[in-house]
Amino acid sequence: MAAAAFLIRDGDVSGENIFILEANALMGGSLDGAGDAEHGYSLRGGRMLTTDNYECTWDLFKMIPSLTSPRVSVFEETVAFNEKHRAHSMARLVDRRRGKVPVTSMGFSMQDRVELLYLSRADEGALGASAITDHLSPEFFETEFWFMWSTTFAFQPWHSAIEFKRYLLRFMKEFTRIETLAGVKRTIYNQYDSLVLPLQQWLKDQDVQLMTDCKVVNLTHPATESEYVVSSIEFQRAGKSEVITVDDGDLVFFQNGSMTDASSLGSMTRAPTRLTKSDSGGWTLWEKIAAERPEFGHPAAFNSCIAQSVWESFTVTLKNPAFFHLMNQLSGNEAGTGGLVTFKDSNWMMSIVLAHQPHFINQPADVQVFWGYSLFPDRIGNFVAKPMSECNGAEILQELCGHLRFDLEAIAGANCIPCTMPYITSMFMPRQPGDRPLPVPVGSKNFAFISQFVEVPEDVVFTVEYSVRAAQMAVYQLLGIDREIPPVTRHDKTLSVQFEALIKAFK
Ligand SMILES: Cc1cc2nc3c(=O)[nH]c(=O)nc-3n(C[C@H](O)[C@H](O)[C@H](O)COP(=O)(O)OP(=O)(O)OC[C@H]3O[C@@H](n4cnc5c(N)ncnc54)[C@H](O)[C@@H]3O)c2cc1C
Repeated sequence: MAAAAFLIRDGDVSGENIFILEANALMGGSLDGAGDAEHGYSLRGGRMLTTDNYECTWDLFKMIPSLTSPRVSVFEETVAFNEKHRAHSMARLVDRRRGKVPVTSMGFSMQDRVELLYLSRADEGALGASAITDHLSPEFFETEFWFMWSTTFAFQPWHSAIEFKRYLLRFMKEFTRIETLAGVKRTIYNQYDSLVLPLQQWLKDQDVQLMTDCKVVNLTHPATESEYVVSSIEFQRAGKSEVITVDDGDLVFFQNGSMTDASSLGSMTRAPTRLTKSDSGGWTLWEKIAAERPEFGHPAAFNSCIAQSVWESFTVTLKNPAFFHLMNQLSGNEAGTGGLVTFKDSNWMMSIVLAHQPHFINQPADVQVFWGYSLFPDRIGNFVAKPMSECNGAEILQELCGHLRFDLEAIAGANCIPCTMPYITSMFMPRQPGDRPLPVPVGSKNFAFISQFVEVPEDVVFTVEYSVRAAQMAVYQLLGIDREIPPVTRHDKTLSVQFEALIKAFK
């Protein structure tokens, strides 16, 4: 959808000439938000954004009118909302012995500091497909910093050292305030309601054709070695095969890979079903076209080990304010001002976030919704003697209350919907140069990749920004648009930010 918006705004393409084929019944991909008070709400994810970064995202949303206040843009309404509801976590880490864990010190030893500095200055070519553990000692993974950084951004020790380094540089400002999350910006509602719906409405107003339930299964092209020119798009709609012919002058933007591919929901009484790429077929097309051309990347680098890329989230719908009151007392934060609360000694490495309420446009005033996730769903719980991946919503709530030392009364009548995502951190898997294609690969004449799995210098994956930036780059390059793409802001090159980071590292 971002690519469509840039095609219209900056490429003078008429909306009626743009077709988006989406396999799901709804647009928005990972930015989902569904359900109601009666059946329970569900979100696969809850997003932290920043206004110090996210340059392309805000470039886009500065022109998209808000749905609730159409005279202001989504960007303006988000900034105003965050002025009113400032993030300042007072309980970033919690354990069962101490309650709130002191987090003013990052817990680094001198060795940790040296290794971290070395990694942050290392050349990407030299880092190659190495993992974070190849550069940092085991003690580093016990520091307060690691608990906060890894659960804020969902890093695992075995993930890509390059990506970890990129995060250190891109979010150096967040490094200095990681314990309060003061730099984090939230949308008013969940991101489906606050980002997807307004953008979708704008595209509809421009007559863009949004075609849901259309799964693209093949891209055909004439057999030439040097050039790649897509000549038709084959897709399945309601079980029937259809074809779109790609004429001279037409352009094709392809979404290769998805972090929420093969995700599945459970319920209060049922654990989510474990699916893989063979159930969903979501990676198939990228695998197929990449098998023919090395410059189209190597999906296997990202989708070959579910054990290293899976985690599980859950959304809880409450009709009783008791839980929110108790959380307020424990954390010192009103809902919407705190952010992630991580249970540091939980086997599952569980975190929850109480967003400002209502979190859904259609949420009644007497209903509360919160979201949580666990980095290690395959480990046995502390209070429930099984892995989270085998737990239903009721068991997940039982584990949560154990960590909080709350009586189960606090969640009486709650509806917890778990969601397992086998490829959720697939973008973080160690990679070699060339594993991700360029947005417009060499030799491509009318074809571009847009996703989390393209090579974008300096920027970091697992962000909305990365997808929007990739889309903007692809559109500008294929259309030859002479407008500057908002550059990645190099806070890490700013002396004051470097200085603050240094002070933080020595606390
Ligand atoms: C749990 C979670 C937490 C997150 N937290 C944050 C955060 O704090 N901050 C942040 O900035 N970002 C966060 N993100 C990441 C952010 O949501 C994603 O980076 C972004 O939404 C990816 O968008 P996308 O459109 O590139 O890909 P996706 O959202 O993966 O969408 C891909 C779409 O393409 C469709 N598709 C795929 N193949 C085909 C095909 N062959 N035919 C038709 N359709 C197809 C899929 O159905 C899907 O709708 C989070 C994501 C999740 C899931």
